[in-house]
Amino acid sequence: MSQDPDCLFCRIAAGDIPATVVARTERVVAFRDVAPQAPLHVLVVPVDHHRDVPALAAADPELLAEVTRTAQQVAQELGDGQFRFVFNTGAGVGQSVFHVHGHVLGGRPMGWPPG
Ligand code: IMP
Repeated sequence: MSQDPDCLFCRIAAGDIPATVVARTERVVAFRDVAPQAPLHVLVVPVDHHRDVPALAAADPELLAEVTRTAQQVAQELGDGQFRFVFNTGAGVGQSVFHVHGHVLGGRPMGWPPG
């Protein structure tokens, strides 16, 4: 178990900073994005600190699978089961919090390619 005391999402996962939590397992937490970009916009994070999705996949692939299962569960329970699952990876493509998080987006039509 590794946490970074200076990491926003470590602190949310630990319950030290308030968030609207919609799902939780021992190792994964899902909470509403503070600036939603769709009617359904939830962030799914591992409690353990990993900076991005490749780092998580390398260190603990089963935990990445659990993040994915939680995303599907959230999309089914809070939406219609269809969802876009986005891991911004790198500041140049929009990653602003360097604790891996999957955006679960749904509830409206979405275009492709993304902007
Ligand atoms: P990124 O840009 O892919 O790293 O996504 C970071 C996301 O975290 C953004 O969609 C933000 O709106 C969201 N966010 C930042 N701070 C908070 C918070 O305190 N609670 C919930 N979501 C947050």
